Amino acid sequence: MAAMFSLRTNFLGGPSPRLKPTIATTATTLSTVRALASSSSSSPSQASGSNQHLKLGFLGLGIMGTAMARNLVKAGYDVTVWNRSASKCEALVSEGARRGSTPKNVTEMCDVTFAMLADPVAALEVALGSDGALGGLGPGKGYVDVSTVDAGTTKTVCEAVKSSGSLFLEAPVSGSKKPAEEGKLIFLAAGDKELYDTVVPMLDVMGKSRFYLGAPGNGAAMKIVVNMIMGRECDFQVLSQGAINNPMFSLKGPTMLARNYTPAFPLKHQQKDLRLALDMSDKLLQNIPIAAAANEVYKVAKEYLLGKARMIIRNGIHLI
Ligand code: NAP
Repeated sequence: MAAMFSLRTNFLGGPSPRLKPTIATTATTLSTVRALASSSSSSPSQASGSNQHLKLGFLGLGIMGTAMARNLVKAGYDVTVWNRSASKCEALVSEGARRGSTPKNVTEMCDVTFAMLADPVAALEVALGSDGALGGLGPGKGYVDVSTVDAGTTKTVCEAVKSSGSLFLEAPVSGSKKPAEEGKLIFLAAGDKELYDTVVPMLDVMGKSRFYLGAPGNGAAMKIVVNMIMGRECDFQVLSQGAINNPMFSLKGPTMLARNYTPAFPLKHQQKDLRLALDMSDKLLQNIPIAAAANEVYKVAKEYLLGKARMIIRNGIHLI
């Protein structure tokens, strides 16, 4: 590992100062995001170099994480993976990834570690819990959280990571299972610009575009707004005929009409994102009645699915 450090004199160099608490309100944050987004979007063709020498970690191999880590392995990166349910590592290990025993073990071994986890609880547990990623971080390393979480969670992880001397980037993604498999995600990044510049080649392997949105929390806020809008728009068949047709309708419409409901973005995560949007709107004193109504519908659907799962388990068939 010692040789690795000399390769990173500038970007992952010395200890970074502890993050100062942000004083921007979320409203200011969102207008900053708009301004930055219009000036800082980039396409993969603008990437320079591949930083192929860096050892990468990947924590969380769910629907999205598996596809994203696979694209990094395919692109020739040295990737070490970890997942809470260890069996999900097997496919990637057979394709050339290394296996880490804990999040801490992964960050100890790697220069830059990505995390793609279900929700705020998982993001905090994997980063800061026992044998968590924080234990293996230190000066010269980077931690990139690509999960969808709220700005408060991002800032908590960010402060802990920075206090270890590592750099931090949040980069939640827009897209779903198929774009993740095809390397066509959109990254909404915020945090340490040095780390952003370092991971640009990896983001370009996993995605088709990326935005650098400034201070930690901005990426999370932007992502929640995107998913709040997505969670409200349900009547694909009608909407896709009109002026507000969009790529999401073309993506989801045909599978819905074919009654193919194989999860690409699990319902529990969409409801989590609506919950995060409502929480953000409370803090901003913004009215989002349609998103609030959509959240009620998702809650009913989630409860229905949980009820079904309980019934199946009661009957001794463990399908879920
Ligand atoms: P997923 O398939 O449900 O995977 C969730 C991952 O989080 C799994 O690796 C799971 O581990 C892990 N996890 C959950 N709770 C944990 C805990 N307490 N400790 C450690 N690990 C834990 O979800 P996904 O679809 O990949 O989504 C991941 C994230 O991306 C979410 O934040 C989601 O909102 C966001 N996202 C999803 C999509 C999409 O279309 N799917 C699109 C954009 C963004 P186990 O395997 O052990 O359960």
